[in-house]
Amino acid sequence: MVQNQKVKVSDLTQYGICPRLVYFHAREQTEIASGKERSMIERILLKELAFNLHKIREDLKKGEDPKEDAKSIIKDIADDVECIYKKELSEVAEDVLDDVKREFVTRMTEDEEWFRKLRAGNELLELEEVHGYDREHTMVSEKLSLSGSVDKFISTDDEVMPCMIKTGKCPEYGVWRSDRVQLAAYALLIEEKSKTTVQRGFVEYIRTAEFRESPIRRKDRARVLQTLKHVKRIKNGAFPEKGVNAPCDNCAFVDRCDTRKTLLSVLFRK
Ligand code: SF4
Repeated sequence: MVQNQKVKVSDLTQYGICPRLVYFHAREQTEIASGKERSMIERILLKELAFNLHKIREDLKKGEDPKEDAKSIIKDIADDVECIYKKELSEVAEDVLDDVKREFVTRMTEDEEWFRKLRAGNELLELEEVHGYDREHTMVSEKLSLSGSVDKFISTDDEVMPCMIKTGKCPEYGVWRSDRVQLAAYALLIEEKSKTTVQRGFVEYIRTAEFRESPIRRKDRARVLQTLKHVKRIKNGAFPEKGVNAPCDNCAFVDRCDTRKTLLSVLFRK
């Protein structure tokens, strides 16, 4: 039995997808499921793109054909990614990596709408330009036994704001509920170390250049604390029910999950 494990904010996110993912991740090293390498590489490239928005915007504001410079930044991102994500990409075949990088560069450099939205700007991009941000800022709470690394940690004279990069689909309005809860978890971590109350956070849905602000709500703070208790129980050995919308078809644990379920039903019948 695993005792007193620290919980990561990413465990809370996994719990929202399917509580059993927390169970299996706590016990087993996962390999990248076969056929999933391409989406993993794409997520990495998009994430790195989000860390370079200020450079791209700087170039979009310049000269006669500013997009040429912006495009060369996107190509540089693809070139640099192996050095930055050495561990994550170490098992990926070179031809797959090159192919995904090529597709990424072509798609992003031809996406006029993406450039238009970036050029138009918004409050978040301006905050990042004026105040900068701390990349992958790690925080630990002894009190909550919780830790997390927020993609962008933005601090001004008046407020501190967590900002997450998401590579999936953007909702029509606002941010996904799971993203709100994740922002609230980062808010709790920030508040333990500073005297501030975090009022809002941001989500960058980078694929479509949608930048959304989200207030840190009381009910999301409460949901973090509730989920934290469930995750701790799971990490200490409890096997949970599957999530309502558990993505079993794409899950690396599907075989073990079914076996475990069968074993439990046999024991129960006994
Ligand atoms: S197979 Fe389904 S129920 Fe089991 S861990 Fe994966 S997503 Fe959850």
